[in-house]
Amino acid sequence: MILSQIHVKLDPELKLQILEKVGVYSNRFSISEPKILLTTKEVLDMPKEMTEGRRTSAYKYYGVSYLQHNMVFINVRKIPDEKNLENTLVHELIHMRFPYLAHGKRFNKLVRQGLRGKTFLPYQKRK
Ligand SMILES: [Zn+2]
Repeated sequence: MILSQIHVKLDPELKLQILEKVGVYSNRFSISEPKILLTTKEVLDMPKEMTEGRRTSAYKYYGVSYLQHNMVFINVRKIPDEKNLENTLVHELIHMRFPYLAHGKRFNKLVRQGLRGKTFLPYQKRK
C-alpha cells in the first residue's frame, strides 16, 4: 500500500452519503436495498454462514457482494477516492441486479450505464 495515497475517511456523514446513494441506485436498478457493511469488523461480526467464502479475505477487495443474503460490503477504508467509491457501489449493485452475470465486457458495460443513471427493470428469474 502506498502511504501517500489519500484514503476515503469513514465518518457518519460519508456513511449517510453512501446509504443514500445505495438507495438511489437500488431504485434505478429495481432491486431491494441490500444491507450494507462498511468495515471489515462488520463483515467479521456477521454470522459465518452469511459471509462464507469472502470473510477473512474481504479486506482485499474494494467491495464484496453476498448475493444470497442481499448484503454488500463496501471497503471504504481501502477505496482511494470518491470516483472509485461510486464505481464500487455501482459494481456491487449491478451484481445484485444481474446475479447470473460474471465479470466481463457485458458486466462492465452495465456498470458504465448504471453510473450514467440508467434504470433497469426488475430481475426476472430465468427458467
Ligand atoms: Zn464483482
